[in-house]
This record gives sequence, structure tokens and C-alpha cells, in this order.
Amino acid sequence: MHLFTKTADELATMLRNKEVTSVELIEAYFERIEAVDDKVKAYISLDKEGALEKAEEIDAKLEKGEELSRLAGIPIGIKDNICTKGLKTTCASRMLEDFIPPYSATVVEKLEDAGAIIIGKLNMDEFAMGGSTENSYFFPSHNPWDLERGPGGSSGGSAAAVAAGESVFSIGTDTGGSIRQPASSCNLVGLKPSKGLVSNYGVVSYASSFDQTSPITKDVKDMALVLNAITGHDPKDSTSINMEYPDYTKALTEDVKGLRIALPKEYFGEGFNQEVKEAVLASTKKLEDMGAVVEEISMPLIKHSLPAYYIIACAEASSNLARLDGVAYGHRAKDYTDVESLYSNSRGEGFGAEVKRRIILGTFVLSAANYDSYYKKALETAKLIKEEHNKVLEDYDVIIAPTMPTTALKIGQKQEDPVKDYLNDICTINANIAGVPAMSLPCGFDKDGLPIGMQLIAGEFKEETILRVAYTLEQATDFKDQRPKL
Ligand code: GLN
Repeated sequence: MHLFTKTADELATMLRNKEVTSVELIEAYFERIEAVDDKVKAYISLDKEGALEKAEEIDAKLEKGEELSRLAGIPIGIKDNICTKGLKTTCASRMLEDFIPPYSATVVEKLEDAGAIIIGKLNMDEFAMGGSTENSYFFPSHNPWDLERGPGGSSGGSAAAVAAGESVFSIGTDTGGSIRQPASSCNLVGLKPSKGLVSNYGVVSYASSFDQTSPITKDVKDMALVLNAITGHDPKDSTSINMEYPDYTKALTEDVKGLRIALPKEYFGEGFNQEVKEAVLASTKKLEDMGAVVEEISMPLIKHSLPAYYIIACAEASSNLARLDGVAYGHRAKDYTDVESLYSNSRGEGFGAEVKRRIILGTFVLSAANYDSYYKKALETAKLIKEEHNKVLEDYDVIIAPTMPTTALKIGQKQEDPVKDYLNDICTINANIAGVPAMSLPCGFDKDGLPIGMQLIAGEFKEETILRVAYTLEQATDFKDQRPKL
């Protein structure tokens, strides 16, 4: 019986049936990490002692028969840009190599209130900039489906850990696809919720307009359980939405009759791998066979989304990362003669190449001479892209698209040309620009056995629609039951 292939919901049942205790579960996950993490490299740091202490508390409560959340006693990892009180939070950067936050992010507090147990912090691209985890200051993570390949990124550690059975589910962030791309590369479910549905308080900002704290799970049911635990209004995050939050598990019904699906032809053209397109279309056909109505449409503004996204993201990153100057926060250089050299040496040593590239680009587009021609234009373009999405999502319940143009790439393959790297984000950035929810769901494998993901995009706060469609598809296929042979 492999505990590490089970979902949170299955383990919750086992905990209640006394087939396993939370302490045993934590021990088993650390054994698993010991056995495979040398190869997978998902974790930056671990906290076995803290985890065991919490597991004992949960076991005592279970013993007393207390009513607990389905997530109680479940071992999980958290992306290393999400603050965890007393546990290092490095953003996979030399700049924050020794940073121990004095408080926890709201999402961490909510998960801990539900009884989930944080066992460690997960690898990522430095400051969440990238799509391969190769921009980590520490080491790249490896894809459990093929160790020579990357798990995608930037939340690559978050996906690799779940796929390798080193974490039951995980939390990461998605600014332009960083949850969905690794979920797709590792045969997992990744949902970027609507902007403001899950608090970003205590999550280190990259591009605040697009950043969204998001989960990765093994299946759709776990996704609903995790959403129930982490959604809700947070007065500490001014972008958090104050609304009536539903019970997301109620959306787990098999029913797509009359569902209106839009297939934008821009996502199925040149540059997209044939096997990826075929797998996405085959799943769409399944939905059609079950009663959904599928129509091909055109979203002509999608072709402008990459430049708009990268201009805005870099502009915001340059401003957000300005606080890391070696004075109040971050790495401080040993050698400096004045304030200026303190700043430049600290930042020069602390940041990696990709982060520097983006700070320079962001500063350029925000400068007085370039603001109107780049930054302002990008904002206007983003507004039009959002309007185009809203219009389509008024006429249709979901947009279906691939999550990525290809399956997982070999480690090293992406680094040659950063612009090629950016092109991989074409399918995912639009949901961040539009602020709408988007899920990556497993939909097949290519001829090398590498997972393929499809995206389900719905209107703002229509997470329940996505869950219902995803659950229906999941029940009709067995992709989610496939596990990598590590
Ligand atoms: N690859 C995109 C970028 O580098 C998205 C990253 C993310 O979602 N954090 O900006």
C-alpha cells in the first residue's frame, strides 16, 4: 500500500478509519523524500521536527473523535515565495537565502487552521520568473516522469513534489501560468483562481496585478477541498474579494449537458505540438459526446498578449523588487564604500541573470521617455484583452485551450534564448490578464509518455463551472490514476 500515491481525500478516510496515523503519514513522506528527492530536487528546505509535532496534535484530536477538516493531518509542501513563520522563505534567490519571515501568509494560516501539515518549502524559478525552475539559485528540479526533463515552472518544485509522492498536494503561485504549466508537465490538476479569490497576503510579490496564490492537486476532488480551505475574504489583502464563498465540493457533479464551449483557433495553430492539439481536441470531443456544444471561435487579441504581459510584469517586478536593497531586506554585500555601492553590489550579487534582465526591462519601460510608448500601451492592450475574454465568456461557459504548446522540455533546452522561453506562456498568460479562473487538467500522454494538460477557462468567480467540467472529464478518463515510475 503506497501512501504516497493517495489523494488528500483518500488519506482523510484512512486517518478516520485508523488505518494510519498522521505521525505515520509524516514519517512515510519523509522516507519517500529521502528515497527520491536526490533525483527530483523538489524541496529547498524541510521541517521534520515541526511536522511531527503538529501530527501528534492532530492524532490526539482524531483520537478524541473531534470533527476535523478533510485536510487535517495531511503532509504538504509550500512554494518558497510564500511566507512561513519561522521557516526560511528564499524565493529561490541568493537575495533571500537566509530570510526567515516573522509571520505566515494568510494561505498558510488557513491551511494550518484546517490541520494540514507543512513539511517543507518547494523549489521555484527565482522570484517566480520563468517557466522551468532552472532559474532557481539553488538547483533545477526534475520531472518525475522523465528525470532529464524539467517539471515546468515557476512552481516546478510544487508540481514535482506532488507527482513524485513527496507532498499530497501543494501551494504555489501563478502570475502567467506558473501553476498550470508545471501541473500540465507533471499530470496534475492546477487551478489559478479568479484574482482576489485566494489571499495573496504574505506572498512575495512578482507582478502584483497578475499574481495569484494557487493550489496543485492530484485530482479535482482534492482541488475542491483545498479551495474550501483557502478561499475567503482577507482584510489584510486589499485585492481580496468580500463575497459569499460557496462549498466547492458541491460542484463535483457529472453534468455538461448544454454546456457551451469556445475553442479559440489561435490556440491550435502553428507552433503547437500536434500530439498536444490532438489530446486537447479528443477531450473536447468527449465533452461534446456527453452533451456539450462546441464552437470554434477567434480571439484576435491573443497575439498581443505576450508583449503586453511581459511589459507589465517586468514593470511591476522592477518596482516590487526595489525593496530588496541590502538595507531593510535581503543579501548585503561585504564590500561597499558608499550607499550607492552598497545597493549596487548587494543587488548585483543577490539577483540572478533573469531577475536582473526583468528589472532592467521594467525600469526601461517605466522611464519618462518610454512610459507612453511601452507601459501605457501595454496597459491599454491588457484592458482590451480582458474585454475580449469577458465578451467570449458571456457567450460561452468555458474556453478550452492547451496549457502549453509542447510537453515537458529537456533541462537546458529552454535556457538558450529567453524570448523562446516567453513564447511558452502564450496559452496561460491571458487568464491572468483577464483575472479569470483557469485550470490545467490532465488529458493524455505523448508518444514518449510525457503528460499533456488542457486548460479550462471560465468567467470571473465561476470556479464551480470549471470544477464541474473537470470532474465530468476526469470520471470519463483514467489519466489521473497514472503515476510516474520513479
Ligand atoms: N513564465 C511566466 C513568467 O516568467 C509566468 C511565471 C509565473 O506565473 N510566475 O513571467
